[in-house]
Amino acid sequence: MSSTNSVGRPTAPGQTNDYVHPTLTGARGLLQDEALIFELGGWDKTGVDIPDADRPADDLDGLLRTDPIGLPGLSEPEAVRHYVRLSQKNHAIDLALYPLGSCTMKHNPRLNEKMARLDGFADIHPLQPVSTVQGALALIDRLAHWLKTLTGMPAVAMTPKAGAHGELCGLLTIRAAHEANGQGHRKTVLVPTSAHGTNPATAAFVGYSVVEIAQTEDGRVNLADLEAKLGDHVAAIMVTNPNTCGLFERDVVEIARLTHAVGAYFYCDGANFNAIVGRVRPGDLGVDAMHINLHKTFSTPHGGGGPGAGPVVLSAALAPFAPAPWVVSGADGFRLVEDQTGAAAAAFGRMSAFHGQMGMFVRAYAYMRSHGADGLRQVAEDAVLNANYIKARLGDVMSPAFPDGPCMHEALFDDHWLEGTGVTTLDFAKAMIDEGFHPMTMYFPLVVHGAMLIEPTETESKQELDRFIGALRAMAGAAKAGDVDRFKGAPFHAPLRRLDETLAARKPKLRWRPETIPPLAAQ
Ligand SMILES: *Cc1c(COP(=O)(O)O)cnc(C)c1O
Repeated sequence: MSSTNSVGRPTAPGQTNDYVHPTLTGARGLLQDEALIFELGGWDKTGVDIPDADRPADDLDGLLRTDPIGLPGLSEPEAVRHYVRLSQKNHAIDLALYPLGSCTMKHNPRLNEKMARLDGFADIHPLQPVSTVQGALALIDRLAHWLKTLTGMPAVAMTPKAGAHGELCGLLTIRAAHEANGQGHRKTVLVPTSAHGTNPATAAFVGYSVVEIAQTEDGRVNLADLEAKLGDHVAAIMVTNPNTCGLFERDVVEIARLTHAVGAYFYCDGANFNAIVGRVRPGDLGVDAMHINLHKTFSTPHGGGGPGAGPVVLSAALAPFAPAPWVVSGADGFRLVEDQTGAAAAAFGRMSAFHGQMGMFVRAYAYMRSHGADGLRQVAEDAVLNANYIKARLGDVMSPAFPDGPCMHEALFDDHWLEGTGVTTLDFAKAMIDEGFHPMTMYFPLVVHGAMLIEPTETESKQELDRFIGALRAMAGAAKAGDVDRFKGAPFHAPLRRLDETLAARKPKLRWRPETIPPLAAQ
């Protein structure tokens, strides 16, 4: 049955039953339903008293606005409640485990937040004279130092704003290096079948054609296939390590050797660096470029905390082509290399107008300093231990995609164990919402049928993992016992139920249009 709630939102399009008696108002428990802020309106009022202007009514030569401005005028309590209600409608890492594989959704330490709000970091502007921002530049320099130390790489480009932006930076650097070396004819990038979608997308965006490398039975790069596809036409390979199946590429040194032997570069997708930080230095494996998602490995918030940061570490061969600006220190303190002359003559350009994200840099640096070298090493060890605990405790009721041997930081299951139950990976994931958990990553990597990719991270305690495991074991039991309705109609308890995600992606409603806003004179 499909129905709508009090503000006209669908509650159950296309669903098979009404498992829960719908409320009269659309509220769920103590969570009230909430309209858009524009639907709340209040055009004729304002939350603040603004004194009458001490100037002529119209000194703009008739340019004074006459149309209604169209902003809702809410009082402070109305505005506060609106945003608090919205915040209660979604999951957050501060509520429970966030098991999205390949995303490393770890706790965001409050110390990071405190440091990021210090005036000298929060209240500065990129166009201030460098003499007034020496502390901020020193922090960028220290963070760059630790990123280079942890990866064993000689250079780092700090300006990319996310992992995908880092991939773009890495491939533009590689393209510039090839062009400078008379190798501009190399137009192919090799990507394994298990790669994150951003890898082939980035390569295509830079103008390369993408060729897939096959995978072995045990979820690793197929060396024979790689060798067959390498050649003088290949600019780079893009390999994630640990890969998106949660497995360490055992042949990574050989992969690097084969790649370099044909004159191509090794781009490593470093999104899974959390699993090896402090234990393995990608530079020692032969990597030429790798992005580091500060919001994954180094605990900065995913969204909500402002734009992100995805610094790219570079080998000596690629370093001269890194984008400007970068920080250098000399007798007069720190300064920024901005002009593409001298040391930066070979830089391929810029990734963005300014250096930053400062707030993310401060949080990542605070995280590193509060853990220390031994603590960062333990991050990787605990992340891998937690994932293996989940794999071991769920392995008898769900089917691990690669049952042999341990995993790295994420446990990957396929949907083999759901065969004959009538429940799909999607149904199972939606029912997890009813049980108080954000779903795991589903249907990724594409090479595993009905994939369920679970990444607990190191910040979950054994109690939290046991709570999660208990919920999934109970759900697996229900699915196998034929309790199909529980899954088919899920989520029943979420503020919004199963949405038409394809329609939302194909025809997104990005703009709210008012039916009527009263004319300005009436406001
Ligand atoms: C998260 C991720 C990316 C993209 O990183 P963003 O910071 O989200 O742009 C790329 N590759 C892999 C394997 C990832 O997990």
